[in-house]
Order: sequence, then C-alpha cells, then structure tokens
Amino acid sequence: MSPPSERIENSAIAEEIRACTKCECSKYTTQRVPGIGPKDAKIVAIARNPGATEDKVGAPLVGKAGDLFNKIVQWMGHSRDSIGILNVTGCFTPENRPPTEGEIISCFPFFQGQLDWFEQKKVVLAFGREAIQSQIGPVRRLKEVVNVLRKPAYETPTYGVIPMWHPSFLLRNDAEFDDFRKEGSLVVKEAVGKALSNGLPWSLDVQGELFS
Ligand code: SF4
Repeated sequence: MSPPSERIENSAIAEEIRACTKCECSKYTTQRVPGIGPKDAKIVAIARNPGATEDKVGAPLVGKAGDLFNKIVQWMGHSRDSIGILNVTGCFTPENRPPTEGEIISCFPFFQGQLDWFEQKKVVLAFGREAIQSQIGPVRRLKEVVNVLRKPAYETPTYGVIPMWHPSFLLRNDAEFDDFRKEGSLVVKEAVGKALSNGLPWSLDVQGELFS
C-alpha cells in the first residue's frame, strides 16, 4: 500500500511538466498543469487540456466543469481527493482551442507517464474526444461510444475505460445533460462499481436513482 502522502502533483514527472517548453503553447500558459491524485487511486479521470481556470489555478478539472465533475464523483460514492486526474496535454491553448496533433504527440510521454504512474487504477473515466481517443483510438462520432457500456468493449488487460462527455460539454448541451441524468449517469455508476468490486469484464444491469 502506498503512503497516503504520495501524490502525483509532488512527483518528478510533475516537476518535468512544470518546466516543459516543448510546444509553442507553453508561451501562452500561466503555468503548465500536471495531474493530481494519490498513487493508490483506483479511478483515474482524463480530460483534454487546461482551460483558463485550470491555467490560473494549476490543477486539472476545476471551475464550473470541475464542480460538475466533483458532483458526479460524489454521486458515485467517491471523493475528488481519491481520484487521479490528468489532461492529455499540459498547457492552456490560445482561445481554448483543442490541442493540435503535434501538441498531443509532444505531450504524449508526459500523458502516458502520468497514466502509468497510477499503477493500481481499475477504471479510467475519459472525458471528451481527446481523452477518449487516447484510450480507444480514433472515433468518428463520439455519441456512438459515450456511455455505451453494456458490452465489455473498452477494456485493457488491467483496467476498463468509460468514455464520457466532458463536463463542460454537458453544461453547454441541455439535451445531452438530460440524457446523462436519466441514463448515462447510471451506466457510469454501475460500470465504476463493477470495475472496482469485481474487476473485468463488465456486465451491466443498470438501475438506480437519477443523478440530479
Ligand atoms: S503541451 Fe505538454 S509538451 Fe507541450 S509545452 Fe505543454 S507540457 Fe510541454
């Protein structure tokens, strides 16, 4: 069991990310944003890249989207502090544009290094296109993979992957947020519970109260 104080934000890889200047976008950042979370995290969340609030605060998934993320995590019976959270790339991008393929490739050793650092993960919550594609490869229509988990389609040998809408997307899209409240949230909660208690493969029987 890892000591409780061992967190990725205090690790050598986090220091390397904070000092990185490999991409142009490092010129526009207030600070690079490494992941956060304890070494023994069983759940790891992946998002795209730091937005304006993350760039100011220096942590991933904060601000309004972070508040919704925290609420979803609490609703599933977990706390933000117990979860690993990282981005596909470590820098804010001008006008919050998606990171380019070149930036994703440049940052990939940091991304994979951080993901690997969480050695005990059993389930990955992949939020949005870049995060989902980092785990399951190219996806044409996200809707075809988000929350579609009744068959064990997204499993690695050691952890399962749950493709999800990014919380900031849910906040901007009432219809998708409504679908998430009514069904997606139940699928996710069930899948996380199964992955943590029984391991893989998943076989879901979704039921329960609605996320509100
Ligand atoms: S995006 Fe990643 S590789 Fe590029 S400068 Fe930022 S931390 Fe370095």
